Amino acid sequence: MSRLEVSIPGEQSYDVLIGQSVLSSLGSELRNLCLSTNHVLIITDSEVSGRYLPQAKYSLEQASFQVDVITIPSGEEAKSLACISEVWQAMADCGLTRDSVVIALGGGVVGDLAGFSASTFMRGVPFVQVPTTLLSMVDSSVGGKTAINLPSGKNLVGSFYQPLFVCADVALLPSLPDREWLCGCGEIAKTAVIDSLDFFNWLSNHADEMKARIPVVVEEAIERCIRFKSSVVIADKHETSGIRECLNYGHTLAHAIETYAGYGVYSHGHAVAQGMRFAARLSAGLGKTDLDFVLQQDELLNQLGFPEISLDASVEELMKIMKHDKKVRLGNLRFVVPCAIGSWEVLEISDEVVSQYVSAWLASNRS
Ligand code: NAD
Repeated sequence: MSRLEVSIPGEQSYDVLIGQSVLSSLGSELRNLCLSTNHVLIITDSEVSGRYLPQAKYSLEQASFQVDVITIPSGEEAKSLACISEVWQAMADCGLTRDSVVIALGGGVVGDLAGFSASTFMRGVPFVQVPTTLLSMVDSSVGGKTAINLPSGKNLVGSFYQPLFVCADVALLPSLPDREWLCGCGEIAKTAVIDSLDFFNWLSNHADEMKARIPVVVEEAIERCIRFKSSVVIADKHETSGIRECLNYGHTLAHAIETYAGYGVYSHGHAVAQGMRFAARLSAGLGKTDLDFVLQQDELLNQLGFPEISLDASVEELMKIMKHDKKVRLGNLRFVVPCAIGSWEVLEISDEVVSQYVSAWLASNRS
Protein backbone atom coordinates (compact mmCIF):
# COMPACT_ATOMS: atom_id res chain seq x y z
CA MET A 1 0.00 0.00 0.00
CA SER A 2 1.21 3.54 -0.63
CA ARG A 3 0.22 6.61 1.29
CA LEU A 4 0.56 10.00 -0.39
CA GLU A 5 0.06 13.21 1.57
CA VAL A 6 -1.88 16.08 0.02
CA SER A 7 -0.88 19.23 1.83
CA ILE A 8 -2.90 22.21 0.60
CA PRO A 9 -2.04 25.61 2.15
CA GLY A 10 -4.69 26.71 4.64
CA GLU A 11 -6.29 23.24 4.80
CA GLN A 12 -5.82 20.20 7.00
CA SER A 13 -3.50 17.92 5.02
CA TYR A 14 -4.90 14.52 4.10
CA ASP A 15 -3.66 11.13 2.94
CA VAL A 16 -4.48 9.15 -0.15
CA LEU A 17 -4.17 5.41 0.45
CA ILE A 18 -3.62 3.41 -2.72
CA GLY A 19 -3.34 -0.36 -2.96
CA GLN A 20 -4.88 -3.81 -3.07
CA SER A 21 -7.60 -4.28 -0.45
CA VAL A 22 -7.09 -0.94 1.34
CA LEU A 23 -10.88 -0.88 1.75
CA SER A 24 -10.42 -3.32 4.63
CA SER A 25 -8.57 -0.61 6.57
CA LEU A 26 -11.26 2.06 6.00
CA GLY A 27 -12.66 1.64 9.53
CA SER A 28 -9.32 1.61 11.37
CA GLU A 29 -8.03 4.55 9.34
CA LEU A 30 -11.12 6.58 10.18
CA ARG A 31 -10.99 5.53 13.82
CA ASN A 32 -7.40 6.83 14.07
CA LEU A 33 -8.51 10.20 12.76
CA CYS A 34 -11.85 10.52 14.55
CA LEU A 35 -11.49 9.01 18.00
CA SER A 36 -14.81 10.31 19.31
CA THR A 37 -17.00 9.81 16.21
CA ASN A 38 -19.41 6.91 16.26
CA HIS A 39 -21.75 7.57 13.38
CA VAL A 40 -20.98 7.32 9.66
CA LEU A 41 -23.22 7.65 6.63
CA ILE A 42 -22.17 5.85 3.46
CA ILE A 43 -23.48 7.39 0.25
CA THR A 44 -23.19 4.95 -2.64
CA ASP A 45 -24.93 4.12 -5.91
CA SER A 46 -27.15 1.24 -6.95
CA GLU A 47 -24.39 -0.44 -8.99
CA VAL A 48 -21.60 -0.18 -6.42
CA SER A 49 -23.73 -1.03 -3.36
CA GLY A 50 -24.34 -4.62 -4.51
CA ARG A 51 -20.64 -5.19 -5.02
CA TYR A 52 -18.68 -3.33 -2.36
CA LEU A 53 -21.03 -1.98 0.32
CA PRO A 54 -20.76 -5.12 2.51
CA GLN A 55 -16.94 -4.83 2.62
CA ALA A 56 -17.06 -1.13 3.47
CA LYS A 57 -19.71 -1.64 6.16
CA TYR A 58 -17.84 -4.57 7.70
CA SER A 59 -14.63 -2.57 7.97
CA LEU A 60 -16.44 0.35 9.63
CA GLU A 61 -18.45 -1.84 12.01
CA GLN A 62 -15.26 -3.63 13.05
CA ALA A 63 -14.00 -0.21 14.15
CA SER A 64 -17.21 0.32 16.18
CA PHE A 65 -18.98 2.76 13.90
CA GLN A 66 -22.74 2.81 13.57
CA VAL A 67 -23.34 2.78 9.82
CA ASP A 68 -26.24 4.30 7.88
CA VAL A 69 -26.49 4.05 4.09
CA ILE A 70 -28.07 6.13 1.35
CA THR A 71 -28.14 4.56 -2.11
CA ILE A 72 -28.60 6.86 -5.09
CA PRO A 73 -29.25 5.74 -8.68
CA SER A 74 -26.15 4.89 -10.72
CA GLY A 75 -25.20 7.42 -13.41
CA GLU A 76 -24.81 11.13 -14.11
CA GLU A 77 -28.56 11.85 -13.69
CA ALA A 78 -28.09 11.44 -9.94
CA LYS A 79 -26.06 14.68 -9.76
CA SER A 80 -29.34 16.60 -9.75
CA LEU A 81 -31.25 18.99 -7.50
CA ALA A 82 -33.95 16.37 -7.02
CA CYS A 83 -31.46 13.74 -5.87
CA ILE A 84 -29.48 16.04 -3.58
CA SER A 85 -32.60 17.28 -1.86
CA GLU A 86 -33.52 13.65 -1.13
CA VAL A 87 -30.01 13.08 0.20
CA TRP A 88 -30.17 16.16 2.47
CA GLN A 89 -33.53 14.97 3.82
CA ALA A 90 -32.18 11.45 4.38
CA MET A 91 -29.17 12.96 6.20
CA ALA A 92 -31.54 14.75 8.56
CA ASP A 93 -33.70 11.63 8.97
CA CYS A 94 -30.75 9.49 10.08
CA GLY A 95 -29.68 12.10 12.64
CA LEU A 96 -26.45 13.16 10.92
CA THR A 97 -24.54 15.81 12.88
CA ARG A 98 -21.20 17.54 12.52
CA ASP A 99 -19.75 14.77 14.67
CA SER A 100 -20.72 12.21 12.03
CA VAL A 101 -18.71 11.39 8.89
CA VAL A 102 -20.01 11.02 5.33
CA ILE A 103 -18.34 8.35 3.19
CA ALA A 104 -18.58 8.57 -0.60
CA LEU A 105 -18.37 5.00 -1.94
CA GLY A 106 -18.51 5.13 -5.73
CA GLY A 107 -17.27 6.84 -8.86
CA GLY A 108 -17.05 10.55 -9.61
CA VAL A 109 -20.82 10.97 -9.52
CA VAL A 110 -21.10 9.69 -5.96
CA GLY A 111 -17.93 11.60 -4.95
CA ASP A 112 -19.23 14.90 -6.35
CA LEU A 113 -22.73 14.54 -4.93
CA ALA A 114 -21.70 13.16 -1.54
CA GLY A 115 -18.95 15.79 -1.23
CA PHE A 116 -21.39 18.58 -2.02
CA SER A 117 -24.02 17.26 0.36
CA ALA A 118 -21.37 16.91 3.11
CA SER A 119 -20.05 20.42 2.51
CA THR A 120 -23.51 21.96 2.80
CA PHE A 121 -25.36 19.86 5.38
CA MET A 122 -25.16 21.74 8.71
CA ARG A 123 -22.56 23.93 6.91
CA GLY A 124 -20.10 21.09 6.72
CA VAL A 125 -19.81 17.48 7.87
CA PRO A 126 -16.43 15.72 7.44
CA PHE A 127 -16.24 13.28 4.56
CA VAL A 128 -14.09 10.52 3.14
CA GLN A 129 -13.67 9.55 -0.51
CA VAL A 130 -13.67 5.87 -1.41
CA PRO A 131 -13.38 6.06 -5.21
CA THR A 132 -14.41 2.93 -7.12
CA THR A 133 -13.79 3.90 -10.77
CA LEU A 134 -10.43 4.47 -12.42
CA LEU A 135 -11.43 8.05 -13.23
CA SER A 136 -12.34 8.82 -9.65
CA MET A 137 -9.11 7.24 -8.36
CA VAL A 138 -6.86 9.22 -10.71
CA ASP A 139 -8.77 12.47 -10.76
CA SER A 140 -12.04 13.39 -9.06
CA SER A 141 -11.39 12.08 -5.52
CA VAL A 142 -8.47 14.49 -5.05
CA GLY A 143 -8.63 18.25 -5.37
CA GLY A 144 -11.72 19.06 -3.36
CA LYS A 145 -14.15 19.96 -6.14
CA THR A 146 -17.73 18.89 -5.46
CA ALA A 147 -20.77 19.61 -7.62
CA ILE A 148 -24.20 18.84 -8.93
CA ASN A 149 -25.63 19.64 -12.36
CA LEU A 150 -28.45 22.01 -13.29
CA PRO A 151 -30.69 21.56 -16.34
CA SER A 152 -28.65 24.34 -17.98
CA GLY A 153 -25.24 22.77 -17.46
CA LYS A 154 -22.91 20.34 -15.74
CA ASN A 155 -21.29 21.09 -12.38
CA LEU A 156 -22.89 24.55 -12.14
CA VAL A 157 -23.47 24.37 -8.37
CA GLY A 158 -20.72 23.14 -6.10
CA SER A 159 -18.04 23.86 -3.56
CA PHE A 160 -14.41 23.31 -2.74
CA TYR A 161 -14.35 20.83 0.14
CA GLN A 162 -11.44 18.56 0.94
CA PRO A 163 -11.91 15.00 2.27
CA LEU A 164 -10.50 13.65 5.55
CA PHE A 165 -8.70 11.02 3.50
CA VAL A 166 -9.04 9.07 0.27
CA CYS A 167 -9.06 5.27 0.14
CA ALA A 168 -8.35 4.00 -3.41
CA ASP A 169 -8.59 0.21 -3.48
CA VAL A 170 -7.43 -1.15 -6.84
CA ALA A 171 -9.03 -4.51 -6.00
CA LEU A 172 -12.39 -2.84 -6.79
CA LEU A 173 -11.43 -2.11 -10.39
CA PRO A 174 -11.73 -5.49 -12.19
CA SER A 175 -15.55 -5.20 -12.19
CA LEU A 176 -15.42 -1.86 -14.01
CA PRO A 177 -16.92 -2.07 -17.54
CA ASP A 178 -14.40 -1.58 -20.40
CA ARG A 179 -15.93 1.74 -21.36
CA GLU A 180 -15.39 3.13 -17.84
CA TRP A 181 -11.87 1.72 -17.85
CA LEU A 182 -11.05 3.54 -21.05
CA CYS A 183 -12.64 6.68 -19.62
CA GLY A 184 -10.11 6.65 -16.76
CA CYS A 185 -7.29 5.94 -19.20
CA GLY A 186 -8.16 9.16 -21.04
CA GLU A 187 -7.54 11.22 -17.90
CA ILE A 188 -4.33 9.27 -17.23
CA ALA A 189 -3.08 10.01 -20.76
CA LYS A 190 -3.96 13.70 -20.31
CA THR A 191 -2.02 13.81 -17.05
CA ALA A 192 1.00 12.04 -18.54
CA VAL A 193 1.21 14.52 -21.43
CA ILE A 194 0.98 17.64 -19.30
CA ASP A 195 3.05 16.29 -16.41
CA SER A 196 6.41 15.14 -17.75
CA LEU A 197 8.45 13.16 -20.23
CA ASP A 198 9.08 10.65 -17.46
CA PHE A 199 5.35 9.91 -16.98
CA PHE A 200 4.71 10.00 -20.74
CA ASN A 201 7.48 7.47 -21.45
CA TRP A 202 6.43 5.29 -18.56
CA LEU A 203 2.82 5.19 -19.81
CA SER A 204 3.91 4.52 -23.41
CA ASN A 205 5.99 1.60 -22.15
CA HIS A 206 3.13 0.23 -20.03
CA ALA A 207 0.14 0.93 -22.29
CA ASP A 208 -0.53 -2.76 -22.92
CA GLU A 209 -0.39 -3.54 -19.20
CA MET A 210 -2.79 -0.68 -18.51
CA LYS A 211 -5.19 -2.14 -21.07
CA ALA A 212 -4.81 -5.53 -19.39
CA ARG A 213 -5.41 -3.89 -15.96
CA ILE A 214 -2.24 -5.34 -14.42
CA PRO A 215 -2.64 -4.27 -10.74
CA VAL A 216 0.93 -3.15 -10.04
CA VAL A 217 0.95 -0.99 -13.18
CA VAL A 218 -2.50 0.42 -12.44
CA GLU A 219 -1.36 1.30 -8.91
CA GLU A 220 1.64 3.15 -10.25
CA ALA A 221 -0.49 5.05 -12.78
CA ILE A 222 -2.86 6.13 -9.99
CA GLU A 223 0.05 7.21 -7.80
CA ARG A 224 1.62 9.25 -10.57
CA CYS A 225 -1.70 10.96 -11.36
CA ILE A 226 -2.40 11.76 -7.70
CA ARG A 227 1.11 13.16 -7.22
CA PHE A 228 0.64 15.41 -10.23
CA LYS A 229 -2.92 16.48 -9.41
CA SER A 230 -2.07 17.26 -5.80
CA SER A 231 0.92 19.37 -6.89
CA VAL A 232 -1.41 21.37 -9.14
CA VAL A 233 -4.11 21.73 -6.48
CA ILE A 234 -1.54 22.80 -3.88
CA ALA A 235 -0.36 25.52 -6.26
CA ASP A 236 -3.90 26.65 -7.19
CA LYS A 237 -6.41 25.54 -4.57
CA HIS A 238 -9.39 27.51 -5.87
CA GLU A 239 -8.57 27.68 -9.57
CA THR A 240 -7.54 31.33 -9.35
CA SER A 241 -3.88 31.49 -10.41
CA GLY A 242 -4.36 29.70 -13.74
CA ILE A 243 -2.14 26.72 -12.92
CA ARG A 244 -5.13 24.42 -12.39
CA GLU A 245 -6.25 25.19 -15.95
CA CYS A 246 -3.80 22.60 -17.25
CA LEU A 247 -6.18 19.93 -15.97
CA ASN A 248 -8.56 21.09 -18.70
CA TYR A 249 -6.23 19.91 -21.45
CA GLY A 250 -8.37 18.33 -24.18
CA HIS A 251 -11.56 19.38 -22.42
CA THR A 252 -12.77 22.26 -24.65
CA LEU A 253 -13.48 20.04 -27.64
CA ALA A 254 -14.36 17.11 -25.35
CA HIS A 255 -17.26 19.01 -23.80
CA ALA A 256 -18.52 19.97 -27.26
CA ILE A 257 -18.33 16.32 -28.39
CA GLU A 258 -20.17 15.13 -25.27
CA THR A 259 -22.85 17.82 -25.60
CA TYR A 260 -23.36 17.34 -29.33
CA ALA A 261 -23.42 13.54 -29.24
CA GLY A 262 -25.48 13.49 -26.03
CA TYR A 263 -24.00 12.67 -22.61
CA GLY A 264 -23.03 9.04 -22.37
CA VAL A 265 -22.61 8.36 -26.10
CA TYR A 266 -18.84 8.76 -25.78
CA SER A 267 -17.24 8.37 -22.38
CA HIS A 268 -15.72 11.55 -20.98
CA GLY A 269 -12.19 10.15 -21.20
CA HIS A 270 -12.68 9.11 -24.80
CA ALA A 271 -13.88 12.63 -25.66
CA VAL A 272 -10.86 14.07 -23.80
CA ALA A 273 -8.52 11.88 -25.88
CA GLN A 274 -10.06 13.31 -29.04
CA GLY A 275 -9.80 16.82 -27.56
CA MET A 276 -6.09 16.20 -26.93
CA ARG A 277 -5.53 15.19 -30.56
CA PHE A 278 -7.35 18.35 -31.61
CA ALA A 279 -5.47 20.69 -29.25
CA ALA A 280 -2.15 19.21 -30.37
CA ARG A 281 -2.92 19.95 -34.02
CA LEU A 282 -4.09 23.45 -33.12
CA SER A 283 -0.86 23.97 -31.22
CA ALA A 284 1.29 22.73 -34.11
CA GLY A 285 -0.61 25.00 -36.50
CA LEU A 286 0.08 27.98 -34.25
CA GLY A 287 3.77 27.10 -34.13
CA LYS A 288 3.69 26.21 -30.42
CA THR A 289 4.74 22.62 -30.94
CA ASP A 290 5.94 20.36 -33.73
CA LEU A 291 4.59 17.44 -35.70
CA ASP A 292 6.71 15.01 -33.67
CA PHE A 293 4.72 15.86 -30.56
CA VAL A 294 1.42 15.39 -32.39
CA LEU A 295 2.46 11.97 -33.67
CA GLN A 296 3.93 10.82 -30.35
CA GLN A 297 0.72 11.71 -28.56
CA ASP A 298 -1.40 10.02 -31.27
CA GLU A 299 0.71 6.91 -30.83
CA LEU A 300 0.11 6.85 -27.07
CA LEU A 301 -3.65 7.32 -27.49
CA ASN A 302 -3.76 4.58 -30.14
CA GLN A 303 -1.76 2.23 -27.90
CA LEU A 304 -4.22 2.81 -25.07
CA GLY A 305 -7.06 1.89 -27.40
CA PHE A 306 -8.81 5.17 -28.20
CA PRO A 307 -10.49 5.07 -31.61
CA GLU A 308 -10.84 8.43 -33.38
CA ILE A 309 -14.25 10.00 -32.87
CA SER A 310 -16.12 11.20 -35.93
CA LEU A 311 -19.15 13.43 -35.56
CA ASP A 312 -21.82 14.21 -38.09
CA ALA A 313 -21.90 17.84 -36.91
CA SER A 314 -21.37 21.17 -38.65
CA VAL A 315 -18.57 23.55 -37.69
CA GLU A 316 -21.19 26.10 -36.62
CA GLU A 317 -22.92 23.65 -34.28
CA LEU A 318 -19.69 22.75 -32.49
CA MET A 319 -18.52 26.37 -32.32
CA LYS A 320 -21.84 27.38 -30.75
CA ILE A 321 -21.46 24.73 -28.05
CA MET A 322 -17.82 25.66 -27.37
CA LYS A 323 -18.75 29.34 -27.01
CA HIS A 324 -21.01 28.35 -24.10
CA ASP A 325 -18.12 26.63 -22.31
CA LYS A 326 -17.27 27.82 -18.78
CA LYS A 327 -13.71 28.47 -19.98
CA VAL A 328 -14.79 31.21 -22.43
CA ARG A 329 -13.55 34.63 -21.25
CA LEU A 330 -15.06 37.83 -22.68
CA GLY A 331 -16.37 35.80 -25.59
CA ASN A 332 -12.96 34.30 -26.48
CA LEU A 333 -12.36 30.57 -26.70
CA ARG A 334 -9.53 29.39 -24.47
CA PHE A 335 -7.50 26.26 -25.08
CA VAL A 336 -4.83 24.50 -23.08
CA VAL A 337 -2.22 24.18 -25.79
CA PRO A 338 0.67 21.74 -25.41
CA CYS A 339 4.12 23.09 -26.28
CA ALA A 340 5.97 19.82 -25.60
CA ILE A 341 5.50 16.87 -23.32
CA GLY A 342 5.31 18.38 -19.83
CA SER A 343 4.86 21.96 -21.01
CA TRP A 344 1.70 23.88 -21.91
CA GLU A 345 0.14 27.33 -22.28
CA VAL A 346 -3.42 28.64 -22.14
CA LEU A 347 -4.26 30.65 -25.24
CA GLU A 348 -7.26 32.66 -26.31
CA ILE A 349 -7.78 31.69 -29.92
CA SER A 350 -10.00 33.49 -32.42
CA ASP A 351 -13.20 31.86 -33.63
CA GLU A 352 -11.85 32.00 -37.16
CA VAL A 353 -8.78 29.90 -36.36
CA VAL A 354 -10.66 27.41 -34.19
CA SER A 355 -13.32 27.00 -36.91
CA GLN A 356 -10.63 26.09 -39.46
CA TYR A 357 -9.31 23.32 -37.23
CA VAL A 358 -12.79 22.04 -36.35
CA SER A 359 -13.56 21.93 -40.05
CA ALA A 360 -10.33 20.02 -40.78
CA TRP A 361 -11.06 17.52 -37.98
CA LEU A 362 -14.64 16.90 -39.12
CA ALA A 363 -13.49 16.47 -42.74
CA SER A 364 -10.61 14.12 -41.84
CA ASN A 365 -12.96 11.78 -40.06
CA ARG A 366 -15.52 11.74 -42.82
CA SER A 367 -13.05 10.82 -45.53
P1 NAD B 1 -19.67 7.29 -12.46
O1 NAD B 1 -19.51 7.69 -11.06
O2 NAD B 1 -20.98 7.54 -13.12
O3 NAD B 1 -19.33 5.75 -12.60
C1 NAD B 1 -19.44 5.14 -13.87
C2 NAD B 1 -20.30 3.86 -13.80
O4 NAD B 1 -19.52 2.83 -13.19
C3 NAD B 1 -21.54 4.01 -12.96
O5 NAD B 1 -22.58 3.26 -13.57
C4 NAD B 1 -21.16 3.35 -11.63
O6 NAD B 1 -22.27 2.85 -10.96
C5 NAD B 1 -20.25 2.25 -12.10
N1 NAD B 1 -19.23 1.79 -11.16
C6 NAD B 1 -18.53 2.54 -10.28
N2 NAD B 1 -17.58 1.79 -9.70
C7 NAD B 1 -17.68 0.56 -10.22
C8 NAD B 1 -16.96 -0.65 -10.04
N3 NAD B 1 -15.89 -0.71 -9.22
N4 NAD B 1 -17.35 -1.75 -10.73
C9 NAD B 1 -18.40 -1.69 -11.60
N5 NAD B 1 -19.09 -0.56 -11.84
C10 NAD B 1 -18.73 0.54 -11.15
O7 NAD B 1 -18.56 7.96 -13.41
P2 NAD B 1 -17.05 8.46 -13.17
O8 NAD B 1 -16.44 8.42 -14.52
O9 NAD B 1 -16.40 7.79 -12.05
O10 NAD B 1 -17.25 9.98 -12.73
C11 NAD B 1 -17.81 10.93 -13.61
C12 NAD B 1 -18.23 12.13 -12.80
O11 NAD B 1 -17.08 12.67 -12.17
C13 NAD B 1 -18.83 13.25 -13.64
O12 NAD B 1 -20.01 13.68 -13.03
C14 NAD B 1 -17.77 14.35 -13.60
O13 NAD B 1 -18.34 15.64 -13.67
C15 NAD B 1 -17.12 14.08 -12.28
N6 NAD B 1 -15.74 14.58 -12.17
C16 NAD B 1 -15.42 15.33 -11.09
C17 NAD B 1 -14.13 15.80 -10.94
C18 NAD B 1 -13.79 16.59 -9.70
O14 NAD B 1 -12.66 17.11 -9.63
N7 NAD B 1 -14.66 16.67 -8.74
C19 NAD B 1 -13.14 15.51 -11.89
C20 NAD B 1 -13.50 14.72 -12.98
C21 NAD B 1 -14.81 14.25 -13.12
